Amino acid sequence: MVSLIRSLVKEHLERLAAGDVNLDDFAPRVIEKARSMQGRYSAFITINERLASEKTPKQQMKLPFSVKDNICTRGLRTTAGSKILDNYVPPFDATAVHQIKNAGGFVIGKTAMDEFGFGTFSTNCAYGAPKNPIDPSRVCGGSSGGAACVAAAAEFPHIAIAQSTGGSITAPAAFTGTVGMTPTYGRVSRWGLIDYANSMDRIGVIGKCVYDAALGLSMIAGYDPLDSTSLNAQKTDYTTLIGGDIRKLRIGVPKEYFNGDGSAVVKKNALDLLQRLERFGVVWEEISLPYTKYAISAYYLIALAEASTNLAKFSGLRYGMEGDLDGNYEEYFADLRGRSFGEEAKRRIILGTYARMSGYRDAYYIKALKVRAKIIAEFKGAFARVDAIATPSMPIIAPRFDDVEKLSPIDAYGMDRMTVPANLAGLPTISVPSGSEGGMPTGVQFIADHERDGMLIALAGACEA
Ligand code: GLN
Repeated sequence: MVSLIRSLVKEHLERLAAGDVNLDDFAPRVIEKARSMQGRYSAFITINERLASEKTPKQQMKLPFSVKDNICTRGLRTTAGSKILDNYVPPFDATAVHQIKNAGGFVIGKTAMDEFGFGTFSTNCAYGAPKNPIDPSRVCGGSSGGAACVAAAAEFPHIAIAQSTGGSITAPAAFTGTVGMTPTYGRVSRWGLIDYANSMDRIGVIGKCVYDAALGLSMIAGYDPLDSTSLNAQKTDYTTLIGGDIRKLRIGVPKEYFNGDGSAVVKKNALDLLQRLERFGVVWEEISLPYTKYAISAYYLIALAEASTNLAKFSGLRYGMEGDLDGNYEEYFADLRGRSFGEEAKRRIILGTYARMSGYRDAYYIKALKVRAKIIAEFKGAFARVDAIATPSMPIIAPRFDDVEKLSPIDAYGMDRMTVPANLAGLPTISVPSGSEGGMPTGVQFIADHERDGMLIALAGACEA
């Protein structure tokens, strides 16, 4: 099985091992390239200009990483895409960042995102929306849009650390023709991640190819006592699973993901790819996941209920921007939050607060939790029969900025219908390119049972081959 995609990361590591890379000027040259990329695509919120003055010896700065801006980086501004954290410089590294630094990685910058992860297109951005490198009149997808943008556009070895709550890795990966790995909930520590919805938030990886994503995952995965939901699992080198035997793997194709609206080409490309996988001995069959249709409603209730409580701490006292101490507490709080949160964040705070108010709690939040349990059970039932589930990554290709503007919030939320169910269930997923439509990439998403991340890497490797 030979990958058709060159991994700049792999080639770089080979050159490093052979002593062919001059590390004295490697990191500064990469920063220079990131700057020029920024001019074209606005992929970053902050570029690590201080890298030159970092204490880490240049000889230990071997592999460039970008980090989504809701993941804390010591001494490097971390805004979560929000003006309310405009001046926040964390005094610590998130566990994932700590791990990449320990393994010779260095952070070139913090990538653009929808404010706090609230979006599907990276257009709810307080610091500018990243442009799709394949067609800059189109979005990168969200909320990890900047991460996917750098992964797609980088002409240097690079791995993007991204994050998903309801599809924020799959969507931008599909829209930019990159590989997005969302690991099993708990596989990567959430310590140092600025929460959106804790019960679903996951840190993952976007890379130009399966190797890059697999290497990134190997570096950031692992048990962390600082995260109470961390999985106590063995460290794995996921890159060794690429090219592994996938004969007799059974793939379920849920009809609910292929029936509704959306691009016919996106669906066809997914099915054609499955057909091509047959030569590796993979078999596939149609399955049904009828609870899928309730996933969007349940997801948005749960995610926003959690988000609205998480955002309460940004009151300009202990966390978040400070304002002039005028008026009483209510006035101070309302003025500061009114000025600092964007429109979508405000909408979500209001929706989430409503959903968990006494009197509405049982009708909305609690009911949504029951639907979530049904969805998890339905996936578990399916995984008794099949090893993986294949769906389009997104219903459409990357839309143009003006078309996103025309979408109502409800229509925009509906775009997450392929990604939200697996995120509700904490299942690992991988999005890989499946072909194109009118020159724009399309993606296929594979979903596996908990802890079968490695099998997804093997499957994705076969797609690439
Ligand atoms: N589009 C989804 C939302 O807006 C998912 C975003 C995410 O995963 N952070 O909630």
